[in-house]
Amino acid sequence: MSKQDRVEIGGNNRRPMESQRSIQRKYAKLKLEPAEPNQINCYACTSCPEITKTIDIHKGTSPFVTSCFVCGAPARSSFYNDTVPDQAIDMEWHMPTLNETVKLRKHPDMLDHVLRGGLVARLYSGNK
Ligand SMILES: [Zn+2]
Repeated sequence: MSKQDRVEIGGNNRRPMESQRSIQRKYAKLKLEPAEPNQINCYACTSCPEITKTIDIHKGTSPFVTSCFVCGAPARSSFYNDTVPDQAIDMEWHMPTLNETVKLRKHPDMLDHVLRGGLVARLYSGNK
């Protein structure tokens, strides 16, 4: 399972699956824009000492709680304070492609989040 599937948004998962056409229509309204530079966020794990350090690469919203990079427990946002300046970046927040978004149909909370301009975490692809 990819890292991005582990982002926790909360809410119930019992809604009917959204149609591909509806997803395409909503996705078409999203704007893909690069983020401002150095949008670093740090998520403190509630279970282990790990800080999951992230950077935004597209404009959009990132969740307040994500899954710890190391243990998968909930980790809370520092609200874009770089609390560990010496640590390398672990994850990046990006806007998924339409294909990736359609695949989120099995995760209605994630899908909602993305179709409202939400970003999804993946392993950091830049220089560390
Ligand atoms: Zn942890």
